[in-house]
Amino acid sequence: MTETWGFDTLAIHAGAAPDPATGARQVPIYQTTAYVFKDADHAARLFNLQEVGYIYSRLTNPTVGALQARVAAMEGGVGAVCCSSGHAAQIMALFPLMAPGRNIVASTRLYGGTITQFSQTIRRFGWGVKFVDLDDLEAVKAAIDDDTRAIFCESISNPGGYVTDIPAVAKVADAAGIPLIVDNTLATPFLCKPIEMGATLVVHSLTKYMTGNGTVTGGVVVDSGKFDWSASDKFPSLSAPEPAYHGLTFHQTFGNMAYTFHGIAIGLRDLGMTMNPQAAHYTLMGIETLGLRMEKHVENAVKVAQWLENDPRVTAVTYAGLPSSPWHETAARVYPKGAGALFTFAVKGGYEACVKLVDNLALFSHVANLGDTRSLVIHSASTTHRQLTVEQQIAAGAGPDVVRLSIGIENIEDLLADLDQALAAATA
Ligand code: PLP
Repeated sequence: MTETWGFDTLAIHAGAAPDPATGARQVPIYQTTAYVFKDADHAARLFNLQEVGYIYSRLTNPTVGALQARVAAMEGGVGAVCCSSGHAAQIMALFPLMAPGRNIVASTRLYGGTITQFSQTIRRFGWGVKFVDLDDLEAVKAAIDDDTRAIFCESISNPGGYVTDIPAVAKVADAAGIPLIVDNTLATPFLCKPIEMGATLVVHSLTKYMTGNGTVTGGVVVDSGKFDWSASDKFPSLSAPEPAYHGLTFHQTFGNMAYTFHGIAIGLRDLGMTMNPQAAHYTLMGIETLGLRMEKHVENAVKVAQWLENDPRVTAVTYAGLPSSPWHETAARVYPKGAGALFTFAVKGGYEACVKLVDNLALFSHVANLGDTRSLVIHSASTTHRQLTVEQQIAAGAGPDVVRLSIGIENIEDLLADLDQALAAATA
């Protein structure tokens, strides 16, 4: 039935039938570590993956399961695995694909924390990364080698709000026989459905718009179910016998659910980056209003970006929804419902003016977060990116004269008034 439901219906109902034990209409928080086996045979069948069921909440939990089913339905995937954070979801997404000596081709326009995770931390697993400008498809093709196991990008990128031409990049991944992984955190499935555009996997930081109110740290990996893991010998975790399950082959046994089952049975079992049921509950609450919120986020972001662009105290605005943006055509074609609600702008007066602006904003909160109902601001060069050189800051879209805004869903007049008084104080 869910196939015929619209976006808002899925956001409220997918994965959440009334509780079979009590009739509870809202998804209960199953705050339990373990589940009683019916008998020894039942336990054995569960541990052998011969029967699907609950064993231990590091692997599966009904509240988390409801969220997994809901996000999978909203993204048009066959399955999803929730994780303890967006960063955990990225490791979980790569884990079945990678091995020492393998690499990924990743966009240069990514959240700074992801650039660090890819350029520093995953190297300790023996995994490599090649950062490429994904607008240059020839460079993407040239970067892919025999050891490349995925292309990774953000649909709308943090902090600039630039957009990726997902259908074009998906074609390159497809021709190379490797999955395209899209971090859809900033767009959410309301603005962009990467799987419909050819992506194999979608990851999210649920911490942001999906929960929507700054209460949770969480992530998810969604599988399209469309990739043929056995078409080459590149993905032995999915296509070859698994010693830890008596030689079971995930792809052969679970078909298009192979990647999802691997994520739970191997990924969560051994990496343990599990989402807790309380976090799943808050995210389920938040997701119910995702469509309403995203419409207002985008409406406000367009108005703030236009207002800033016309202000003589501002020297640049990066919002891809503005006709002046080099990404405007891609945004209109690939993201027709809007280019999100996160972007940067440059203030006359540089670093000093930016710091003053942030200190003088009253309604915008100065925090290292985004995607909240509240409007948020950060001066990356003096905070999240302060360890980088100025050149590195500029390359990351976080130069000294740039402030990042995450536009919330307050009344637009109040947001503009706050920006106006803070700009006046900053540039006086
Ligand atoms: N992806 C994007 C686009 C982000 O902005 C962030 C965090 O800001 C992450 C991933 C990481 O998510 P989390 O903080 O939930 O680990």
